[in-house]
Amino acid sequence: AKNAKDLPLKQSYLKLPELFYTKTTPTIVQNPQLIVQNNELVNQLAINTVDLGLFSGNKVPNDLTPIAQAYAGHQFGHFTMLGDGRAILLGELNDKNGLNYDIVLKGAGRTPYSRGGDGRGALGPMLREFLISEAMHALNIPTTRSLAVLTTGEIVIREEALPGAILVRAASSHLRIGTFQYARQYGKDADLVALADYAIERHFPELTEHYDRYFLFFEQVVKRQADLIAKWDLLGFVHGVMNTDNMMISGETIDYGPCAFIDQYNPKAVFSSIDVHGRYAYNQQKVVATWNLARLAESLLPILGKNQAKTIERAQTVLSNFSACYRQSWNEGIRSKLALQDEQAADSALIEELFNLMTANKADYHDTFRALTVADFSKQTWFQDQPFQAWYQKWIERIKQQGMRSAKQQEIMKKANPAIIPRNYYVETVLEKAVKEADFGPFNQFLNALAKPFAYSQVQQDYMKIPPENNTYQTYCGT
Ligand code: AMP
Ligand code: MG
Ligand code: MG
Repeated sequence: AKNAKDLPLKQSYLKLPELFYTKTTPTIVQNPQLIVQNNELVNQLAINTVDLGLFSGNKVPNDLTPIAQAYAGHQFGHFTMLGDGRAILLGELNDKNGLNYDIVLKGAGRTPYSRGGDGRGALGPMLREFLISEAMHALNIPTTRSLAVLTTGEIVIREEALPGAILVRAASSHLRIGTFQYARQYGKDADLVALADYAIERHFPELTEHYDRYFLFFEQVVKRQADLIAKWDLLGFVHGVMNTDNMMISGETIDYGPCAFIDQYNPKAVFSSIDVHGRYAYNQQKVVATWNLARLAESLLPILGKNQAKTIERAQTVLSNFSACYRQSWNEGIRSKLALQDEQAADSALIEELFNLMTANKADYHDTFRALTVADFSKQTWFQDQPFQAWYQKWIERIKQQGMRSAKQQEIMKKANPAIIPRNYYVETVLEKAVKEADFGPFNQFLNALAKPFAYSQVQQDYMKIPPENNTYQTYCGT
């Protein structure tokens, strides 16, 4: 097993101009205890063991310089200086395939960017991020990963006293749209160049030498974001806090604070208690992502080209590609979900009709696709009604035309329609057991089931049930 001092942590962020970070030591905590570790990721990163000394922040090797990253961002439309208020970057590790991961301690104490916050995390929200981020990964959604959750032996005060915890997060980087906004607002053009070159080196190394690399970089980030949002939407995932500081250049999902999954299909779904105007509603995610990317373009403007007017026009063209990229990813996804091969003229009408039926019947989104996949219509009564039956006949005819055997069709659909997802109700249930009763059994069982969401296995049956109706489910940011 490797000790903390033997972990080959690199610190490439220290090569950036100093305005991008502050050297920050994690706060010593009383009594770190491992609650959950991600064996698959531990193995992938060749860590061998989760070193509690290092990952609690208590024993940082002498030659390591942990940092808090600086960034800004638009929060619900308002520009603010932010930065890692409770996350501390230890360094980067290469995994077995040579992929580079930032290793961050979330909840490791105050930093120069903490503002009024305590720099801490509570056990419930840290476990929630672990569970949902790892479920997202298994669902093939680009995301930050979770390596471990440990308790600190200390209490954090929210509305009540709660067990304190640290989440060890891994991500292909923590570069945000907000990092570029910060460079533009508080740095010189040279800082912007340094940051953009660093981002290109980490995420788009093939562009490194290209004379037009900043433009191509922007184009690639637009593509990744469009693909990500299409995947969220297909999964019924509502992020809840798409502030520009929570949008990653890598195209990974970050910040699992207020996110939630739709049960009933409702285009306007909002779960976050503070999103009173529905800015980040389910059907707004693509709109907001475009708005966020426009902020990225503005930030990059000084280095995109000499002729302002021409540069703006070019950036706008790239930005307007978002819709087409989103459409393409979404269409691909929905066609797999319905086993539609070789495009036909009537397909979009068929798809639209299903979504209209789901809206009209307040259908359970996930169960609808599960039902179509395994031809089990027992869980929702509206399947018996004439309008659905009529649609179903049309769909079956359509599938028959492509000469597909039903076994093959089911195989395709099972890969696109998860048997289970981290439904809010089950997430809350297992977290309550874990936090209030220190019973981690249900959490671990759910976590294991979510590791293979497309398995349609016996042990997943319980999580396939439609939970009791709960239209008032709300999530909270203040974690
Ligand atoms: P978020 O809404 O989670 O994206 O967080 C926005 C900002 O608040 C980021 O700069 C976070 O680092 C910071 N923040 C969130 N929670 C805390 C906390 N408990 N202590 C200090 N800073 C925090
Ligand atoms: Mg955040
Ligand atoms: Mg957060």
